[in-house]
Amino acid sequence: MDPAIRADLAHLPAYVPGRSVPGSIKLASNEVALPPPAAILEAISRAAVTGNRYPDMGMAELTERLARRHGIPAEQVAVGCGSVSLCQQLIQITCGEPDDEVLFGWRSFEAYPIVTLVAGGRPCPVPLDNDFRHDPKAMLAAVTPHTRLVFICNPNNPTGTALRRDELIRLLDALPPDVVVALDEAYCEFVTDPDVPDGLTLLDRRPNVVVLRTFSKAYRLAGLRVGYAVGAPSVVAALRKVTIAFSVSALAQAAALAALDCLPELLGACAEITAERVRVRSALLAAGYPVPASEANFLWLPLGEQTTEFARHCEWQKILVRPFAGDGARVTIAGVDDNNAFLAAAHSFPGVSKQRTG
Ligand code: PMP
Repeated sequence: MDPAIRADLAHLPAYVPGRSVPGSIKLASNEVALPPPAAILEAISRAAVTGNRYPDMGMAELTERLARRHGIPAEQVAVGCGSVSLCQQLIQITCGEPDDEVLFGWRSFEAYPIVTLVAGGRPCPVPLDNDFRHDPKAMLAAVTPHTRLVFICNPNNPTGTALRRDELIRLLDALPPDVVVALDEAYCEFVTDPDVPDGLTLLDRRPNVVVLRTFSKAYRLAGLRVGYAVGAPSVVAALRKVTIAFSVSALAQAAALAALDCLPELLGACAEITAERVRVRSALLAAGYPVPASEANFLWLPLGEQTTEFARHCEWQKILVRPFAGDGARVTIAGVDDNNAFLAAAHSFPGVSKQRTG
């Protein structure tokens, strides 16, 4: 007799991580290609010395530091084991009944449907519009009495598109005030359009809105696993209740604190990436790829049925992009040389229509 495991897990889609192949250039997971600065590495080494001890379960120093950084009380900050963990915690604190729904644009961060199903909610994907942007009207139309949580990924992974301040405010204010809304800002440090808002400025008088941030992208700590949520004290208190004890390691806490001491260096590198983003997109447009403008550290190539072939072609040239079969490929912006290697691969993709098919 088989051990009794939840039957629905058999149908759970697998999270497909960006691949790493030794000797290839990895442009598949939206990491910053540079290693963490020396000061962060030193902080990690120092923390490792007491690795025989449990970490601070309350993550007090990091929580206080983030609160000071954003000018808010510590009771509004919940630190987690990466923001993907906080996504799952948000579902755990909002969904408890089988009919409870979690709404999100689609395509968006691929973990949303997975963590929704794992946490016992019902995923409700709402198609993006024809410009690969969130469609606020369609999202509002998809709200039902069972909607418990809405994810708005801004800028959106994997399309790079972002809702502007007026559009986002209209959407937030039209959603039911008892529905929790998670503004996932994993890529906010790469936003250059001044009309794309910092979600933290939208929290006032909106206690149902939570902003998610991560140390995995601009702060170069994807392997260390730290993210945080900012929201109303009641939401933050609930998030803390469902945190897995000690899940943010001492090394991760020390690294995140050290990263907050290196902001000029870390954010300076983001500026170089966003300049490269413009250059790479222009080159792709000139080559006939219909690439939407991106506010993140990646670009979206809506190649439809040619996506898998494109990713395979890139892999032959030792470039790893992230394909979403039948839909498009996402390519992370890296340093000049790696970006040029990708552009060479894109240019040599043989005689296919590069028009949008999806
Ligand atoms: N949100 C978005 C939109 C992402 O793209 C990612 C990572 N790919 C995450 C959240 C999760 O980041 P992490 O768990 O590493 O903090």
